[in-house]
Amino acid sequence: MPADTTDANAAATGGPADSQGEPEPAVTASTTEREPTDSSPTDGAGSSGPASGLAGRPVALTAPSGIDRSAHHRLDEAWLAAAWSHPTTRCFVVSGGQVLIDETPDGRTELVTTPSFEAPLTEAHRYFLGTDDDGVRYFALQRDALPGRMDQSARPAGLREAGLLLSDRDAGLMVHAVALENWQRLHRFCSRCGGKTVIAAAGHVRRCPKCGAEHYPRTDPAVIMAVTDDDDRILLGRQVHWPEGRFSTLAGFVEPGESIEAAVRREVFEEAGVVVGDVSYVASQPWPFPSSLMLGFMAHATTTHTEVDGEEISEARWFSRDELTAAFASGEVLPPFGISIAARLIETWYGRPLPTRGA
Ligand SMILES: [Zn+2]
Repeated sequence: MPADTTDANAAATGGPADSQGEPEPAVTASTTEREPTDSSPTDGAGSSGPASGLAGRPVALTAPSGIDRSAHHRLDEAWLAAAWSHPTTRCFVVSGGQVLIDETPDGRTELVTTPSFEAPLTEAHRYFLGTDDDGVRYFALQRDALPGRMDQSARPAGLREAGLLLSDRDAGLMVHAVALENWQRLHRFCSRCGGKTVIAAAGHVRRCPKCGAEHYPRTDPAVIMAVTDDDDRILLGRQVHWPEGRFSTLAGFVEPGESIEAAVRREVFEEAGVVVGDVSYVASQPWPFPSSLMLGFMAHATTTHTEVDGEEISEARWFSRDELTAAFASGEVLPPFGISIAARLIETWYGRPLPTRGA
């Protein structure tokens, strides 16, 4: 099953049945990056070895957030109540995948949080997200709408924008909250008996009072891969519904009973007709649109003839670094979007920061 992509990440299409609404991230082709620093031109090129250039270079939404999720507290109602009423505890509203962000006087962008004691106690839609290095606890409140006003300059933002701007801690809090909100929204009824489910475990479980089933947040694994050949060229594809010039890495969802390595080879062959040999894991990225986890790979092709499926991918092309550089410069190929792991994979091969564009 191909992964969907209308969006920043990839070039694949399709998607889990319940991915209504939000575009699926990417599974294939395109995305971007947060702030590339330098990297060696050979990183990740070819087939072997995880891309060393990624080490120490956080990809948006893949870096450690500095938040301890403290999962063992989720069922402890007394602890949660005490945490909620503690004066240092912070909370923020998540609604429709958006949060409020604001610029600080020194030019950073941060998640707008408020002391929890100032917020109404709405346990029915309260998610406990964890504790930071300073012992501050964080909750998200799911609401039908964001607060009308907070600070004058605060503004709503989705993950594609905010993920590029926020600190790793704030981005980590946001992606956790957005993922829970998406899952909660899509799992209001029991998949076993059809009964209405209720929230539990501080937002991390939904229980069915009718049959007793417990339902846990779902994550859909998807593979996304930078395929290179013996001449150190990269294979990029364009989804059928993408505009001219938009290319990205191939991607797709892992199917039931399938290993992720097999999924990489299957997707590349299905979408581009290219046979892949060695596959090496690089990094992952949560992509809650609504529930994907992007697993990034470098993959080495053993054939180069391309034959697109025409259903998901309308065009697949090999690029040398010089060809891609020239294509960016002429506008023939659009620079990738900024937040997704696809851009980081391409950049790992490219060897230096890519031109990027915002979400
Ligand atoms: Zn049930």
